[in-house]
Amino acid sequence: MTWKERLKMALGEEVVRDDPHHLEGYARDSSDAPAVVPEAVIHPRNAEEVVKAVNILREYRIPITPRGSGTSLSGGAVPHPGGVVIAFDRMARIKEINADDLLAVVEPGVITGDLHRAVEEMNLFYPPDPASLETCTVGGNVAENAGGPRALKYGTTKHYVLELEVVTATGERVKVGKRTKKWVVGYDLPSLFTGSEGTLGIITEVALRLLPRPPKRFTLLAAFPDEVSAGRTVSEMVRRGLLPAALEFVDHKCIEAVGEKIAPFLPKGTGSFLLVEYDGFGPEFEAQVEITYEIASRNGSLELLAAEDESTRRRLWEARRGVLPALEGLGYAIRHEDVVVPRSRIPDLIAHTEEVERKVGVKLASFGHAGDGNIHVNVLYEPGQEEKMERAVNMVVEKVWELGGTSAGEHGIGTLKRELMRRELPPFVYTLLKDVKALFDPDGILNPHVMFLP
Ligand SMILES: Cc1cc2nc3c(=O)[nH]c(=O)nc-3n(C[C@H](O)[C@H](O)[C@H](O)COP(=O)(O)OP(=O)(O)OC[C@H]3O[C@@H](n4cnc5c(N)ncnc54)[C@H](O)[C@@H]3O)c2cc1C
Repeated sequence: MTWKERLKMALGEEVVRDDPHHLEGYARDSSDAPAVVPEAVIHPRNAEEVVKAVNILREYRIPITPRGSGTSLSGGAVPHPGGVVIAFDRMARIKEINADDLLAVVEPGVITGDLHRAVEEMNLFYPPDPASLETCTVGGNVAENAGGPRALKYGTTKHYVLELEVVTATGERVKVGKRTKKWVVGYDLPSLFTGSEGTLGIITEVALRLLPRPPKRFTLLAAFPDEVSAGRTVSEMVRRGLLPAALEFVDHKCIEAVGEKIAPFLPKGTGSFLLVEYDGFGPEFEAQVEITYEIASRNGSLELLAAEDESTRRRLWEARRGVLPALEGLGYAIRHEDVVVPRSRIPDLIAHTEEVERKVGVKLASFGHAGDGNIHVNVLYEPGQEEKMERAVNMVVEKVWELGGTSAGEHGIGTLKRELMRRELPPFVYTLLKDVKALFDPDGILNPHVMFLP
């Protein structure tokens, strides 16, 4: 019997799919990584089915790629040639929301935005908010340690993971961590699995920390003539001790390319904008808003647009969240770089992207989480310009390293940033990480093509 026949016998044809049309839908993610059609897609209904699948696939050394919604921007959800996908669309239940202990227990396929709405109905709050939140899954967020605009004040996914249920590469179903606020019994395995991009284990259940929902929220879009005045505003806000829930940035290249589509209300001459959102409980909240107005005006803001109601707030957020989908709509292939620099160096980075554009001859457009210094530099290129794109990426990342930054902030390494990871990490650390991978996955079946070069 072949491995596929054994899988079908153990799990049923409804769970193990291999019709070509179905497989085609799992060949790509949201990055520009080349498509790879999997041999089969498994849609487990529970963790026991994941265990059964792993035990069979392990015998035949078949590579496994766990998959949420495939919104990865680094190629990590594209399967390995000859491999299978385990997709979590049927494991998408919110099992528990506990207001007394401030936690939620969910299956990995839950859509992040659905979790937000479910907890907010109970006056609770789950902060991680990747801009893809209406499509991406909690399992994918944990696997990537996803961030988002609110990471500035509230941290990334790892700050909310209490306990994980994981199916290991050897077919064990284990829980790591505890559903308590504190826990120090042994190494911090939940943190190790968080951000491991499906290379160490398959996440089948997640217990997440929740917060009380802040009752007040204020959103403001500040338009500036250029990135330097926007950058000065960011630096001064941080220096003055302001802590917005989000402090987002869009550069003039994005505005030139898609501004009319996503933010037609921007005043003439806008060369950059900041989206600032505060949330909170008391009077200090209003004071922060006032100081922000004062700083932005003094640094040359052309206009300050405040959201007085929910529909205006959504419109202002669309100006930021809509940037990437609008860039994608231009018809270029996009390499999504995800660099982090010290906040004060953002204007230097943007000036450098202009130089790269001039020297290399591909378009670069940048936006991102200014409060974290996490800037998504998008290299827009056409078929046949792959070498130019790679050259542009290298020039950007080398500048980032020179500025004291890092090549990857929140989108993972996947397959597209493996070489950058190898160059960024000290050789001893790189080898140590490979040894950790080998310890968890002795047969090398879990996303063997992700993170590490062969
Ligand atoms: C428009 C857009 C905006 C985005 N904005 C942000 C942002 O603001 N912040 C941010 O951090 N990211 C952002 N992303 C990137 C992406 O949405 C995140 O990385 C997200 O966490 C991926 O979730 P997913 O469910 O789509 O996972 P997938 O893309 O399916 O998978 C991602 C990785 O996780 C692994 N994986 C998935 N599920 C599991 C599981 N159950 N167990 C083990 N491994 C698993 C996969 O093998 C793969 O390596 C954005 C993407 C897009 C397209």
